[in-house]
Amino acid sequence: MLSHGDDAMQHEGRNPVVERLQESLTQAERSGESVGLLLVQAAAVDRIDALHGFHAGDRMSHAIAQLLRSKALRKRDLIEPLSRDEFACILRPAPSEGIAMLAANRMMSLLGPPMDFSGKSVTPDAAVGIAMFPQQAANASELLQRAKHALHVARGHRERIWLYTPPAGHGAVIDQLEYENRLRNAIEQNTLMLYFQPQLDIRTGRMGGAEALLRWHDDVLGFVPPHLAVRAAESAGLIDQLTMWVITSAIQSCREFQKIDPDFTVSINISPSNLREADLPYYVDRALRTWNVRGSSIIIEITETAMMVEQETSHEALRALKALGVRLSVDDFGTGYSSMQYLAQLPLDELKIDLSFVRAMLDVPQNHKIVRSLIDLAHNLELKVVAEGVETEAILGALTSLGCDQAQGWDVGRPTTVADLLLRLREQSER
Ligand code: C2E
Ligand code: MG
Ligand code: MG
Repeated sequence: MLSHGDDAMQHEGRNPVVERLQESLTQAERSGESVGLLLVQAAAVDRIDALHGFHAGDRMSHAIAQLLRSKALRKRDLIEPLSRDEFACILRPAPSEGIAMLAANRMMSLLGPPMDFSGKSVTPDAAVGIAMFPQQAANASELLQRAKHALHVARGHRERIWLYTPPAGHGAVIDQLEYENRLRNAIEQNTLMLYFQPQLDIRTGRMGGAEALLRWHDDVLGFVPPHLAVRAAESAGLIDQLTMWVITSAIQSCREFQKIDPDFTVSINISPSNLREADLPYYVDRALRTWNVRGSSIIIEITETAMMVEQETSHEALRALKALGVRLSVDDFGTGYSSMQYLAQLPLDELKIDLSFVRAMLDVPQNHKIVRSLIDLAHNLELKVVAEGVETEAILGALTSLGCDQAQGWDVGRPTTVADLLLRLREQSER
């Protein structure tokens, strides 16, 4: 049953968007259908305002609304501007979450690439938060609030799309709760594992470092892929705990590897939401001191997309990490939309070319060209470049002739246990 009388509704009672949304929900409830609310935000409108004036920002805002209306929405769907850079898209009906996700993907493919705007090319810098009625909210203001929450999470996520998931303790989806509880236990009981994937230094032909990759095997859930574990940690508010565990145990293992090769490096992935936490550099510093490892032995990887969002806070965190001597790497490079200006401004050390380009570089000529250009770009910016997804010897050969610095992939070695990597390192040191 829709509850109209709650405080939030009364407070927002005169908001036309909430009223239109409420009308749609009332209709849907009568016909037993679901409604999907997709909140689309295009952060570039704000930048256009600042650079070219509100008039220009308005035109961009209209152009985006028009594009969404004509290319992403169906006749019965509604689009209402919530502010100049935020649009409420109401899918009526949205038979499933999958349909809402499809629409969100469609929107991101429209708003992901740069748009031609008054003769200039502008990337809308969009994100989409999704919430479903009646699955996740009982009335319009609640639905809006949930979609806002999802939008906030989406901003820090690689795909820039997020479907609302209730935080732990909120009730609703038992499966999600169970999932999150299992993760919490795994962190507390130290049953998570880190695997390490070797990285080949192409010039010396030696394994010079490894990337730490999270492995979670649960008795009931089986093997949970790391991006899902990270996602569950984010929605359960466990991401800092998880990252702290990853950092501590990666640095501890680094200490082991360095007993054999003192110059060995360990790369650690962090999630975009970690960058919002002031404590991250503190955790890293503490772990470095605990295990007596130099900052310069550790490489922190952040995905390209994460690097570009939350710019103010993330840049602060990156500088604090840098002050510890830690090296910074841009992961999955080539899949996001970097501003070259940021690439030049940030204190970066390394680019990792996304495996989607590398794996097919010998089959798709375009990919070969992209890999070559990315290697040149990295070198021109005085960054080291690592190719991921090196699955064959032939690819390794091609990368060698292009002057790539490091290679990571099945051909060099699969992710493996600490014990196994120690064996490989010992063999190498005896050669
Ligand atoms: P990533 O950081 O880009 O890691 C590389 C992924 O590519 C790994 O997948 C690795 O197993 C896989 N890979 C390596 N070589 C090859 C190859 O030659 N071919 C193919 N097809 N794949 C290859 P994995 O371990 O499933 O990790 C997936 C993603 O999950 C990682 O992508 C990273 O973004 C995230 N992740 C993993 N561990 C952590 C962690 O501790 N914290 C955070 N925040 N994210 C993590
Ligand atoms: Mg990585
Ligand atoms: Mg990667």
